Parts: sequence; structure tokens; C-alpha cells
Amino acid sequence: MQQMPGKRIVLTSDSTMMSSYHGGVMLGFAAIMPRAMLPDWIFQKLFCPPVPAFEDGSAAYAPCGMRKVEASLLDAGFSREEVIVAHPDHLDRAIGPETEIVGITHDDPMGKIAFREIEEIIGRGPPFNRSKFLELVRHPLIRRHRPKIVVGGNGAWEVMGEDVGVDHIYLGEGESDFPEICRKIIRKEAVPNVIRGTAVPGERIPTNRGATIGGIVEIGRGCWRGCAFCSPAMRTMRHRPLKNILEDVRVNLAAGQRDIILHSEDFFSYGSGGMNSNEEKVLKLVSAVKQLGPKTMDVSHLSLAAIHHNQGLLRKISRIVGVGSDQNHMSAWIGIETGSCRILDMHMPRKALPGKTGNWPEIVRDCYRLFEEESWLPVASLVLGLPGEGREDVIQTTELVESLMNYTGLILPLFFTTIADTKLGGTRGFSKQDALPEHWQLVGLCLDYNLRHLKKLHRLYSERMTASPLEHAALTGINLMAEVFLNKYMKRMKRGEPPN
Ligand code: SF4
Repeated sequence: MQQMPGKRIVLTSDSTMMSSYHGGVMLGFAAIMPRAMLPDWIFQKLFCPPVPAFEDGSAAYAPCGMRKVEASLLDAGFSREEVIVAHPDHLDRAIGPETEIVGITHDDPMGKIAFREIEEIIGRGPPFNRSKFLELVRHPLIRRHRPKIVVGGNGAWEVMGEDVGVDHIYLGEGESDFPEICRKIIRKEAVPNVIRGTAVPGERIPTNRGATIGGIVEIGRGCWRGCAFCSPAMRTMRHRPLKNILEDVRVNLAAGQRDIILHSEDFFSYGSGGMNSNEEKVLKLVSAVKQLGPKTMDVSHLSLAAIHHNQGLLRKISRIVGVGSDQNHMSAWIGIETGSCRILDMHMPRKALPGKTGNWPEIVRDCYRLFEEESWLPVASLVLGLPGEGREDVIQTTELVESLMNYTGLILPLFFTTIADTKLGGTRGFSKQDALPEHWQLVGLCLDYNLRHLKKLHRLYSERMTASPLEHAALTGINLMAEVFLNKYMKRMKRGEPPN
């Protein structure tokens, strides 16, 4: 076979990141499943089917962060001949003797986000995402040509201290410093092992040159609420100009994406300085995107406090998007994190603003009532085991979840993990040994909640899915099997016993 010279800078990721997820990005969660649970081909077929590839080995869709890095390299003067967003199944067309840098974007390369919960509940070894990431790093073409491997993206911190053959870990934003880092690597100058990219203003976040997975379009970055365990908290909040956002929407629609997800840490803060939403700008953004004609529109993250403060804004967004008429629901990620006002005060003192910390459970409940009325689907996170959390705090969180049981959604209880560069960066993470019976009861309750709503979620989500009828039927079957399989763990944990 003819040896390809290779592109100078290859941007890529493993198959758990470079997937269409059948149009349902939530299927990507399956990548935290132990690899021993399913044969690779079934996993890939059902949960992480590859994105389409072009003739030259480039990927038709890529993670939004990778598209931003690609755009910043092109804007900085690298040519199209030098840079490729490569499909992981076609690296033979991208990596060759002339390749100097392989930049890998990843959200969870070592599977650390939910690994301990999964390991302790199911106990079947490493997850798909870690296995696939390590396979990519050890790809024969990378071994043969020895380009420098740079890992970036939200999960890059997971690689710190891990001896997995990565040359550089890039933390923070890529647009600012990555092009110069590439130049230094190419000139064989010294580059530190850990690089910290600085933040760029909203207007300097570049427009994408290709479509993104899930039709994700970034509208802004950063969050002013400053929760102690959260890395976006370390970033200054800024937003992109409307015309740049619309350009990214157009690029996606032109490439065949039908669904658009507007991404930021808090959609309601678009165009504002923080606490008080700029209603006019938010509605203008929603209307302008809607006019471009996506089949569905969702937002990635919302602050419960902001919704609570301006419930009319959520209703207006619903009307413009056509929730209940043009699309059956609208989904959003939210952070409940805890039901304990004491823990909120300790680690998230701005979380409820402009509301009061002491009203947090009521704020959450009011928002869930509104979501249900407006057919919004919340995917919520809880953080278990934050420093200082005691029995009473966990019970308060459990009581909060109990009060939400009839509202449709998903609730993900995550063990507190220390992330470098956060205010709690130096503390120890939470593990099975630290868990109280009340923690297991809470995890069991969340599992109960999720299993209860899974069928409805599957039905609602199908309007975004591109899976074939056969794949759809298989996914329904897997849902049922998961229900049976997880039921025994759920019952045990609800009694306050560890799952294993
Ligand atoms: S509100 Fe959410 S995004 Fe903002 S700092 Fe807290 S956890 Fe992070």
C-alpha cells in the first residue's frame, strides 16, 4: 500500500468521541460502561456509531471544541494542507512521516468522570472510553511516526500524572495558545508538559469550518457563579456575537445536521453580565436560530436560579421554538448538586442567586414544575461526597429527589471528583469507602427515578434519533435489559447497602 505523507497537524479523538450517537448525544453516556459488558461491535453499532467520513479521511462531524481548534489553526495561518480533523477509522489517510502533532480532544479520556460509581456498582473493569482512548494513543501509525501527542478538551486534566505516552496536556482554551504551541513543537523548541491556554474574548472565539457532533453551537463560555468543584468557574464569562453563532448554525445545517444544541454554561445569561438575564438578547438569539430552520433546538446548560428568577423567559422561549408543536420537548442540562442548603453555602454560595440559598429545594421544585408544564426535559447532576457533607445533608438531598419523582427527566448522582484547577483541586475525591448508607439510598433512588422515566425519554428522544428501525428496536431491548439488570442493584442500594 502507498505510504501517505500525512498531514502536519492531525486533530482527532477515539470512537467514543467521534460518534453521531444516532442523533441522540445522551447515548454517548454509554461510553462509561465497562468494556467487558458488551462486544465492541454491538457497543459501536448501538451506542457510538462512527460519524461519516470524507474521501480524504476527514470526519464529517467533530466535537465542537475540536472544530474551534481547527478554525484557530487555519485563522493563525496554517493551511488546509497542513491541518485535518481526522476520522479515527481512517488515520492511515491522515498520519504519516510528515505528521508532527496529533491533537486529541477528549471529555473523559481516562474514564474518571463516573468510573468509580460504575466500578463500585457493576464492578466489571475499565470503561469503553478509557480503553478506546488508550488504543488511539497506542495506534500503530502514532508509534511508527512518533508525532507529539497533545491532549486537550474538558477531560484533559484526567491524563495528568498518568503514564500513557502523552507528550503534552493542554488545559484551558485552545484558540489562544494552541497555534503557537504547534509552531514551537514544529520548530523543535521546548514546550512544557502541561500547557495552560488563556481565555479569549467572545468575539475571538472563531467560527467553525465544519459541522459538529450533535449540532452543538457554542454561544458563550464561563460562569460567574464560581462553584468550588467546577472548572468553568475558573473562566471569565463571555458571549459570542450573534452573527458568529448564526454562522456556526448555518455550517451545521449545510452539512446535514437537523438538530441544533446551543451551548454555554447558562443559556439565560446570554448577552448579560451575570445575574439578570438580558431577555431581549436571549429571545433575539432563539428567534434568529429558529428562522434558520433546524428540526429541533435544545440548550446545553441552564441555571435553575436564573430560570426561577425569570420563569416567563422560559415560557417565551418555548413559544418561539414551538415546543409541543414543532418539536415534542426541549432538553437542557441543569445542576441540582445537593438538597442541603448548608453544603450549597459551603461550596456554591452563588448558586441560588438572586434567590436565597435557604430556598434552594423550593427553587429546584418550582423549576421542575415549570419544566413539566412546558415540556422541557431536565438532565440533572448531583454531587455526592463534597467535603464536609454529613448524614443530614445526604438525607436532605434524598428528600429533594423524592419530591421530584413524578417529573420526567434524568438525575445523575456523581461522586465528587477532584479536578485540577478548581478551588477544591487539592482535596481527596469521594469513594465507596467514604459512602454512608444514606449515600447508597440516594444513588438507589436516582436509579429508581431514571428507570421509571427511561421509556418516556426513549420515546421523546426518538424525534432526534437517526437510528434505523432495527437499531431502535435493539436499543429498546437494551433499555428493558438494563431495567432488569439494574433493578437488583437499585433495591439493594435503596435499603442503604452497597451495591456489591
Ligand atoms: S453554576 Fe454550574 S457552571 Fe456555574 S460554576 Fe456552578 S457548577 Fe459550574
